Order: sequence, then C-alpha cells, then structure tokens
Amino acid sequence: MRSQFFAIVVLNGVLGYFQESRAEKALAALKQLSSPNVRVMRDGRLQDVPAQDLVPGDITLLEAGVQVAADGRLLESVNLQIRESALTGEAHAVTKRAQEVLAADATLGDRTNLVFQGTEVVQGRGTVLITRTGMATELGRIAAMIQGVESEPTPLQQRMDQLGNTLVSGSLILVAIVVIGGVVQAGWGAFESLLEVSLSMAVAVVPEGLPAVITVTLAIGTQRMVRRHALIRRLPAVETLGSVTTICSDKTGTLTQNKMVVQTLQTLNHTCVTTGHGYTPEGDFLEREQTLNPLEQPDLALLLLDCMLCNDAILQKEHGEWSILGDPTEGALIVLASKAALSHGHLNRQLPRVAEFPFSSERKRMSVVVQAAASSREVAITWGDAPYCLFAKGSPELLLGRCSQVQIADSVQPLSKAQYGQILDSNAKMASCGMRVLGFAYRPLQTCPADDTADTAEQALIWLGLVGMIDAPRPEVADAVQRCLQAGIRPMMITGDHQLTAKALAEDLGFISDNGQVLSGTELEKLSQPDLEGAVANVSVYARVSPEHKLRIVQALQKQHQVVAMTGDGVNDAPALKQSDIGIAMGMAGTDVSKEASDMVLLDDNFATIVAATEEGRVVYNNIRRFVKYILGSNIGEVLTIAASPMLLPILDVPLTPLQILWMNLVTDGFPALALAVEPSDSTVMQRPPHDPKESIFARGLGAYMIRIGLVFTVIAVSLMYWSYNHALTHPGDPARWKTMVFTTLCLAQMGHAIAVRSDIQFTAQLSLFSNPFVLGAVILTTVLQLMLVYVEPLRDFFGTQLLSPTELAVCFGFSTLLFVWVEFEKLIRRLVKRC
Ligand code: ATP
Repeated sequence: MRSQFFAIVVLNGVLGYFQESRAEKALAALKQLSSPNVRVMRDGRLQDVPAQDLVPGDITLLEAGVQVAADGRLLESVNLQIRESALTGEAHAVTKRAQEVLAADATLGDRTNLVFQGTEVVQGRGTVLITRTGMATELGRIAAMIQGVESEPTPLQQRMDQLGNTLVSGSLILVAIVVIGGVVQAGWGAFESLLEVSLSMAVAVVPEGLPAVITVTLAIGTQRMVRRHALIRRLPAVETLGSVTTICSDKTGTLTQNKMVVQTLQTLNHTCVTTGHGYTPEGDFLEREQTLNPLEQPDLALLLLDCMLCNDAILQKEHGEWSILGDPTEGALIVLASKAALSHGHLNRQLPRVAEFPFSSERKRMSVVVQAAASSREVAITWGDAPYCLFAKGSPELLLGRCSQVQIADSVQPLSKAQYGQILDSNAKMASCGMRVLGFAYRPLQTCPADDTADTAEQALIWLGLVGMIDAPRPEVADAVQRCLQAGIRPMMITGDHQLTAKALAEDLGFISDNGQVLSGTELEKLSQPDLEGAVANVSVYARVSPEHKLRIVQALQKQHQVVAMTGDGVNDAPALKQSDIGIAMGMAGTDVSKEASDMVLLDDNFATIVAATEEGRVVYNNIRRFVKYILGSNIGEVLTIAASPMLLPILDVPLTPLQILWMNLVTDGFPALALAVEPSDSTVMQRPPHDPKESIFARGLGAYMIRIGLVFTVIAVSLMYWSYNHALTHPGDPARWKTMVFTTLCLAQMGHAIAVRSDIQFTAQLSLFSNPFVLGAVILTTVLQLMLVYVEPLRDFFGTQLLSPTELAVCFGFSTLLFVWVEFEKLIRRLVKRC
C-alpha cells in the first residue's frame, strides 16, 4: 500500500512538472518575442535594434510613446516630457532638457538631463547617449522589471480551481459519510474495507489532471496565435478573445496598408497629380495632363518646402529598395518633395529647425520653426524677409481654422469666406474618394517662439494648400469583416481621419452600408455618456476622434454588455486599451506605452489577425469544454461504479484501487485530453455567435452531457461487473479478476469516448483521423499502456491487476465500445432534432 501511494505522488509530480514546464516554456518564448525595438544611430545611419542589444555609447532617438530602454544622457531635447512613475512613483511627467546643468547631489527625480530605463516618453523628442544598460541601470538596480508576459490565472482557471476545491471538500465529506455510516451499520470490523471504498471514491471525484491540461491548452493557444501573428501578453486574453462581441479598429495601418502615396496636391490656383511608384522619389507633376515644374510656381514650391521641413521621416535606399523610416504619412510627403528635386539633407542645413510643436492625435497637426541661415537664399523658395518661418501641416479643417490669409501664386491675400468654403469643398471631395488629406500653412516670424507657445504660434497662418494621398486597404480585410459579421461580432472603425475618408473605406470594406452613419469627434463631444450609450448601438464608424473619445466609446459599449476588443497605437491610447476587455497594440507602428497597456500585440498590425485570434480564442474555449466533459464524465462514471458495487455484489468490495483510479485520471484520461486540447478549428466555429463570458463552463448542455455520460459509463461498467463477477466464480483463474475487467473496460471505454467526443455533430466516420493525429496517437499509446498493466508481470503486481484470458479481454473491448456507440447515437439524435 505504501509503495502504491509513493507511486501516486511520483506520477502526479512527473506529469505535473511535464505539463507545467511546457506551459512555462511557451510563456517564456512569448516574453522573448514581446521585447521592444529601439531606434539607434549606428554606422552613420538609423537602425531599429532589439532593446537588449543596446550598449553604452549607442546614440538612440526618443519620441512620444517610446519606453526608454537604457539609462542615458540627453544630447538634444525638444519639448521632452517623460513619465518616471516606474522608477520614482511620481505620476506626473517630468520635463527633460539636454542643456540643463545639475547639482552634484541631485536626486533621481531631479536629474532632468538624464533618462532612465523603464520610463515612458509622453511628449516630444530627444537624442540620448546611452551610459548604462541591463542590470547596471537604475531600474536594474532596484530589479523591478515591469514588462513581459504575466501568467496570472484566467477567470476559467480560477473557476476550475474553485471547482477543484469544492470537489476536494466534497470528497472528504463523502469519505466521512461512507466510513461513519458503514461503521454504524456494519461495526468496526468493516472499517478497513469502508476506508478503502471511501478513499477510492474520493480519488475518483477529483479530476487530478484537469488544471494542468487547462494551463497547457491556454499556453498552446497562445502559440497558435503567435503563428497567426497575434502575441498574447496576458493569459486571460486567450479566453476572453473567444467571447469578443465588438472589435473597434483603427483605420490607418490596421485596415489599410499604411503605405501612403501622394496622388494630388492642390493650392488655390493649381491642381496637380503626381506619377511614380511607391517610395521611389521619381515622378512627374501633371496639371491638366501637362508636366509642370512645381518649384517654378511660388505657392506649390512653398507647399513642397513645408512637406520637406515639417517632417521627421527619413527616406533611405537599402539593397536597391527605397524605404521609409518613421511615419508613413510623412514618408509620402518626403517622397513627394523629392520628386520635385528638393533635398532633405540640404534643406535642413540651409534652414535649420530651431523649434517644433510635435504631432499628437489630439492636436492633429504639427509645426516646425526654421531659421533662414545667411546662405539660405541658395534655397530659391522664399517667404519674405522674416528671419524665421513656421511651417505647419495637419487636419485641413483644423489648420484652416487657424489661417487668416492665403497664398495665391506669389501673393498673400486675406482669406475670404468663399475661399474658405472652396478649400473645405476640395477637402471633402478628395476625402470622399478615400484619400487621406493633409492641409499645409506657414507663417513668417520675427522671433523664435518658446517651447510651450504652440497655441499662439500656430495662429494667423497663411494657407498653402492640400495634399491627398492614397493608402490602399489591406486585401484580406474585407474578407475578415465578413467573417466577423458571420460570427456575430460587430466590427467598428474608430479613426482620427476625416469623416468622408473613413466613410469611403468603411463602405468599401463592408463595415457599413451606403447609408451608414458616421459620427465625428465633434458630434461625439456634444453627446452625454447615456446618449453615447444609445448611439453606439447604431453607429459603427467614428471619425476625427481623439484618444479620450475612444475611452468613452469603449465604456459606452461595455455599458451595453459588449465584450470589446480595441486597437490603439499612440501613447494616449493606453487608457482605452486598459479599459477594453482586450486591448490590442500594434507591433510594428505602435508605441511601447500602448504595447505595455495591451493584452495582445498584433505583430503585423493587421485587422485580419484580430479576427484570426478571435477564432483561435473560440477554438481554445471549445477544446477546454470538450476535454472538461471528457474528463469529468469519466470521473462521474468512476464514482457511481464504485458506489454501486457494494450494493450489487454480495461482498463489500470495490473494483478499483486508488492507484488504479489515479492512473485513469492522470494517464488514460490525461493523454487523450491533451490531444483533444490541440483539436483544430472546425468550419462552424466562426458561424456561431460568441459565448457569454460569464456563462458557466457547464452551460449549453455540457453539465447534462457529463451526467448522462457518467450514467451510461456506470451502466456499462456495472453490467460488465455483474457479468464478470459471476463469470470469475465459475471459471478457472483468480476470482478477483472481475476487478481487472472493470478497470480495463473503464479505461478502454474512455478511448472510444475520446475519439467520438472530437465533434458534437459530425460522426466520427466523417472526421479525418489525421486532422488531429494526436488523438489517434494518444488512444493507441494509452491502450498499449493499459494492456501492459494487465500483461506485464511487474506492472501487474504493482497495480494489483490480474491476468485476463483472451475471451475476457474481448468482452472488455466489446463492452467498452458501447460508450462510443452511445456518443455517436447522441449525435444522430442531435442531428435529427436540428433537422426538425
Ligand atoms: P487612425 O486613428 O485610424 O490610425 P489616423 O492615422 O488618421 O487614423 P491620427 O494619427 O490620430 O489618426 O491622425 C489624425 C489626423 O491628424 C490625420 O487625419 C491627419 O489629418 C493628421 N495627421 C496625421 N499624421 C500627421 C502628421 N505626421 N503631421 C501632421 N498631421 C498629421
């Protein structure tokens, strides 16, 4: 008996270790994948390198949304604000200045010319010389790593833990009742047998293998999602994905390819189209099909100068291919200006940038102030005699609102109402063709404005014109939208872009029909939260919104009991990502801050990947339900069989020892359950509505199925027990071998159950055995192991089994197929009911 209990402990430990380490390995691999990249100047050019490859001496660039990857000294800073709460606990962002000189005893929070690992850039830009990396940094010193995959238990795991605890307490009560009740009835003489019966029942009740199988399934789910480009950062997301009812997606880059190409530019007296391909800076400017040199037209020339100067992107040629480093919108503008033979490097030297007011999704504009150097007249384009000039670009309506004059050819005139209307009309016309439209304006200045005077500096501007660029939709998105709709998931578009641009794309991709409504940020602002809750039920496209609107939309949807997945890329999207049920960050274009706040990162920034991840989430949930009913059905069968045996047989004896039950729960149930965990998606998984996240795991008939299967299991086992008990009495051999027959039949019946339970509707004959070869492998392996317990002598002695004759084994096989037949019969009934 002692060696048997020792075996139980070892078996449990080995299996638990195997399953846990597999889950841990999967999570560690994910952690590795989620490590961010850093923009570094090496070999004279900017490159993106993994954060862990940074070394002291590297020069890195910081911009809004970046998480600082190492400690360093600022070489340059522009409006730089950094949140250092990870280090100092101070929630407010600190202003950093490269030129600051510090006192020798400045505390960590006062070292304003230094940046520290783990802190977040909230605003502005900077250049940093890295001084310390890894464990040598301030963060390393306090050893508080904050990033990576968190392996917190999922709601389902918590519920299953609770179930486990209930079952353990229940089984202890069962032991007490059986022992005390039995002793009262039969006296102390029966104590030992009663204890064995009750212990067997207690072991049978508890599904020992279940928690580990659930953990492994969730971990395997995350790996399958990574293969489909969705990186899970928090394990509960796997489960929640299966119940998502609404996906709120950004437009640029998620629904579109984010490869912008300028098509049209328009001033008040010129309308040009451009030719050329992708990012190659070669092409013509055509006006009424005639080639034109834009630099000879003062308004077009200033517009192109604005495109080039008010820009942080870099156009580069690598391996013969032109590419963009930075924001694709700005990249397209550099390509446009380069087509007119303007040179970025040359202009930056001639007209150095002396101040800037960076872009943010709230401001929807950006401006820079350049200084006319002495030699700047080499740049033929002029803005008059002022020593400084502010160049701005941004959302046309908003920028136009800050203009008081307009450039027409080489003269500056007051902006009339009619011109104002004409510009807005042109903007609407371009946007309704699906173009992303940016407005451009400038203002000569006598003095350089201070860092924090954006609002006053960006006033009284001179309007230059509009630039319209196309950003083709990703080809797979229209299909993904249809899959969402079929799966009962509502796709929504929430964009910072113009209403008409959003509407054109939304109609194209199937988000809305022709007369679908689009709500703008300004309209949304006027709605109270209860009104917005009403509006979100009908409106699926939101345009010109700011990050805080996103937060309100999520809250309104959640109030409507929707399970919301929301994408975001900017630093200010973090609250909306945190609030949503699944926060989704962009792996390529997203800021570190948004990734940190997310549950899932899209490695390819693609909407179709969200839908794929949702499908995987559903598959994981279905598989968990599948093996829960497989495992618990068997447990119920075991308990009832043990309970029935003393009532049916003329002796007080149980067919199964605790070791045999544990063998069943861990090995003969465990391997097939693991194989069921990798069951692939079936064709119907995205044709059903999402499940309610609050539903019990036993909902939708699963509880009833388990009880039914448990009863059928018991009937089969008890009939066999009755037959084998009488058979063993009248035939030569060990009279106790009826127990081995019951044990063998219960194990083999579960093999048939594993094969049949793969589908609720499809007959086994209709399923390809090789669509999940692991089930077949697990069934063969487990059957062989089970037979070894009966036919290999040392194992037989250890597990307390007896040798069975071929006839007896055949009877076991015969009885065990009955469970398979029953499950297939249930499918037939289900199909007939469905057809009626
Ligand atoms: P989505 O939210 O779907 O990604 P989006 O990229 O248009 O859409 P934002 O990045 O918030 O959203 O941009 C909002 C608006 O700000 C744009 O429509 C455009 O008019 C303007 N804009 C975008 N990028 C820049 C930029 N680099 N400089 C100046 N203005 C910009």
